[in-house]
Amino acid sequence: MGGTTEYAGNFVPGDECVVSFFDSFVLTKQEGSIHMGNTTREDIVQQLEQVLREAQTTLAQANNSEQIQAWHSEYLGRKGQLTGILRNLGSLAPEERPQVGKVANDIKVTLEAELQARQEAIAQAALEAMRRAESVDITLPGRPQTPGKLHITTRTLRDIYMIFAEMGFQIYESPEVETDEYNFQLLNMPPGHPARDMWDTFYTTTPGLLLRTHTSPGQVHAMRQYAPEPIRVIVPGKVYRYEQVTARSESMFNQVEGLAIGKHVTFSDLKGVLMNYANQMYGEGRVARFRKSYFPFTEPSVEMDIDCVICNGKGCPICKYSGWLEILGAGMVHPLVLQYNGYDPGEFSGFAFGMGPERMALQKYGIDDIRYFYSNDARMLERV
Ligand SMILES: [Zn+2]
Repeated sequence: MGGTTEYAGNFVPGDECVVSFFDSFVLTKQEGSIHMGNTTREDIVQQLEQVLREAQTTLAQANNSEQIQAWHSEYLGRKGQLTGILRNLGSLAPEERPQVGKVANDIKVTLEAELQARQEAIAQAALEAMRRAESVDITLPGRPQTPGKLHITTRTLRDIYMIFAEMGFQIYESPEVETDEYNFQLLNMPPGHPARDMWDTFYTTTPGLLLRTHTSPGQVHAMRQYAPEPIRVIVPGKVYRYEQVTARSESMFNQVEGLAIGKHVTFSDLKGVLMNYANQMYGEGRVARFRKSYFPFTEPSVEMDIDCVICNGKGCPICKYSGWLEILGAGMVHPLVLQYNGYDPGEFSGFAFGMGPERMALQKYGIDDIRYFYSNDARMLERV
């Protein structure tokens, strides 16, 4: 900016500017003062009053501290207009100076008082705005607090624990990171055994260390800890499979395996325990069937089905219109597994079984996708 450009309205900050109402005064950066021509006392007083009016108008429009600050330096500051005028009192006759000085001082006092009033009004308005924005309407009804509930997997696991606890089974916990030996070899699957293909395995970068593909290594730990004492344990926990995730299979899920070892344990004991479990878990009067199956660590091996709890055996989408639900796998502990883990197979026998709590919940609640269990979607939890 420079020259003699005129500004209407508010002042433009800057060291070098021309203000419209000082027709004969030019404020320059170099000199920092107002040069006066043949001005009289009346001229100066008139100009002071004009500054007062303009300052009052501008102040009334200031709405925040930045604008207040700009206003202050424009009118009352060291380089402000009022000071600029007073600097030139020297060009007046000595007797005129006090009169003009008094007018200027009165204006200054007036403006300072109005400045303070305006600042207080702005602060008050800001406080009021904040109070409105943050106000609480105490007449509104409160937001209901939902009590929440346990995850469906946890609930299913607890149901299982209760049923087997009543039959004298203890809960036995074991690691999720296992050795190849415990996950496979001691369960009758030496390296290269084709049955290993039944489980797609997550191996770690440490040779021989893997994420357990089933809770069966927990049975090995239990046998090795308690042999040659009789055992009745269930082994719950998470297992990991290197599988494509689909509606029917997840890469992580829970299993509960059971193991009973003693001197006269028979397949009839296995059937009795599992029938008692099915009746308590799915309701009294369940019909069951056992189909022969294969697991490397049991002989003979079976799959257990019960009549569909959704359609009572008539056929529905959950049982794929067969009327049967497959609920677990089981069998008599393989003599080699007993022998590997401290029991004489000539003296001891045992049974083992394994089930998937998520699959059971799928069946029981008619859920059509196993991925809902761990997708953190609260709607699924509200549904069941
Ligand atoms: Zn059905």
